[in-house]
Amino acid sequence: MYNCKKILMVNLPFSGHTNPTLELAKTFVSLGHEVTYIHSPEWKNKIEETGAIFIPYDNYPITMTASQKEIKSWGAAYQTAERIGKNFDCLIYEMLFLPGKSLADRLGIPAFRVFSTFTLNAKILNDFGKTGGWYMTCIFRYPLLYKVVSRVLQRKFHLRYGNIAKEMTDNAPKLNFTYTIKEFQIYSDEFDNSRYKYVGASIGSRNEGRFDFSFMKQPIIYISLGTLLNTSAKFFRKCIEAFQNQSVSVIMSIGNVVKLEQLGKIPDNFFVYPFVPQLEVLQKASLFITHGGMNSVNEALYYGTPMIVIPVGNDQPTVARQIETLHLGKYMKRKDTDAVSLRLTAMEILNNNNYKDTLKKFQMKSQAAGGNMEIARQILAELDKY
Ligand code: UDP
Repeated sequence: MYNCKKILMVNLPFSGHTNPTLELAKTFVSLGHEVTYIHSPEWKNKIEETGAIFIPYDNYPITMTASQKEIKSWGAAYQTAERIGKNFDCLIYEMLFLPGKSLADRLGIPAFRVFSTFTLNAKILNDFGKTGGWYMTCIFRYPLLYKVVSRVLQRKFHLRYGNIAKEMTDNAPKLNFTYTIKEFQIYSDEFDNSRYKYVGASIGSRNEGRFDFSFMKQPIIYISLGTLLNTSAKFFRKCIEAFQNQSVSVIMSIGNVVKLEQLGKIPDNFFVYPFVPQLEVLQKASLFITHGGMNSVNEALYYGTPMIVIPVGNDQPTVARQIETLHLGKYMKRKDTDAVSLRLTAMEILNNNNYKDTLKKFQMKSQAAGGNMEIARQILAELDKY
């Protein structure tokens, strides 16, 4: 018998952690369930487009700077979910909202977690800490800092453990879903298969209009550094130097910070935009030069596009190593990459069918993994047991 569930979702204002979950909200709504999504005010429109009810964070003044907002967001999200959460059938959170499980326990409702990066444990967080640069993951590099942050979080959010990694692994919900396939997950045999599920990329119709490929000839190289760590004009100039006068077309997504004027003369074989419909572009591209954001990489696996990963920070160096280890593309360190090495590596991948053959297998697995519909199916089946 049909039974409409009241689902509460909560997330933090980071696009990589939010984007894949929008399609999840939409999926539950399309199945006739009621979704309420707690997020920062900037996400109102995108969340309402999914059909979910949007609830802005309590106590989150619009006058704060971007970094103040990021820091404040954990507390504000927690407070809001604590205030309204009792009235729901379950709480779904993305892994960055560390207190999700302990909060759901306090509310007396089941929790489900999604990972937009790899499924995490202490070993992987340590890896991010060592190689992730001066970004959020650097707290895992300094034992004392890690200890202090862990203790502060434990007190503030009533966590079960005073250790971030332990809270993540030993206070985990019964079901956890990761937006990649098991074959791409590092140390995948360290996670219990009955609790950790791999559903592949979050692919959905994004309503971005059609992209005009008519002026482009094959092969097409697509270049993007994602939406956050994409501020280096120097990097994009290096790409121009690498591929101008080559018989390739290059689609380059430069974001909103770097301006076209900073790139000098744009060669005829380059097509530069602040943002492109990436899912459409990946289907036409023969090579993707990426920063190794997990969403981008999972999307490329879904469409079978070989990659050169030039990571910036956080989880990206780990992602890049995994791409190279599994023969899905190449890892290039930014400081060692010049126009010539980039061109030669790109040509090698374009002319080597081995990458395409390996990618084909990953593509088939990704497309069969079920995505958000599979998450919804498993969560609803679990809720029926309560
Ligand atoms: N994206 C897009 N068009 C662009 C650049 C990015 O659609 O021109 C999307 C891309 O499909 C992916 C997300 O933005 O879903 C970027 O996420 P990722 O985790 O790769 O990187 P982040 O932006 O979080 O660094």
